[in-house]
Amino acid sequence: MRILVVEDDPSISVPLAEGLGREGFEVEVASTGAAALAAGPVDLVLLDLGLPDLEGSVVCQRLRATSAVPIIVVTARGEEIDRVILLELGADDYVVKPFGIRELVARIRAVLRRTSGSVAAAVTTEIVVGSLHIDRRARVVQFEGRSIALTPKEYDLLLYLALESGAVRGREQMIREVWDEHWWGSTKTLDVHVASLRKKLRPELIETVRSVGYRIVDLSSGTP
Ligand code: CA
Repeated sequence: MRILVVEDDPSISVPLAEGLGREGFEVEVASTGAAALAAGPVDLVLLDLGLPDLEGSVVCQRLRATSAVPIIVVTARGEEIDRVILLELGADDYVVKPFGIRELVARIRAVLRRTSGSVAAAVTTEIVVGSLHIDRRARVVQFEGRSIALTPKEYDLLLYLALESGAVRGREQMIREVWDEHWWGSTKTLDVHVASLRKKLRPELIETVRSVGYRIVDLSSGTP
């Protein structure tokens, strides 16, 4: 597993890289936002929000625009952090400085588990609902012939809905299956992700079932 540590302060990045190395991760360090965006493919990004050249949130958004790599954001103690905004930017989790290496490794493993779990369990590699195609092996989504860039969570959520198209998925069930009990927990998280999927795909693809949850609709069949 390759981790990109984006951190401008060597008094943090050096021991962090050593600690992660001892845990068996391969670590690459980028000390600027520009270097982070120029880095090669990795399995996870640990992103400090306070960078000298670019806002960490901008780096997060740009990474997310081209890749579904899991991102854990690192924030300074006391820094006000808007969780919903972080979600919209595509972060998968966050840690607050100072943090211990054990806590961090636990978070990293949890994020990696969440983002790969649904794929590991895959039997059918391609899911098709009308003009929505999901390639589970490559985690690639196509809709109406276009490739759609999704965050890992958006992908997991879409896959979960698409696995049983037409079936209603309850809100609590979705949060339990797509997030885990350690996630930030607000059901607003779910709505933010559904709204984002609707924007990237088509609003009518995901139907709200009042006071129950959501379901995915095969738009090509003519009957919802
Ligand atoms: Ca910093």
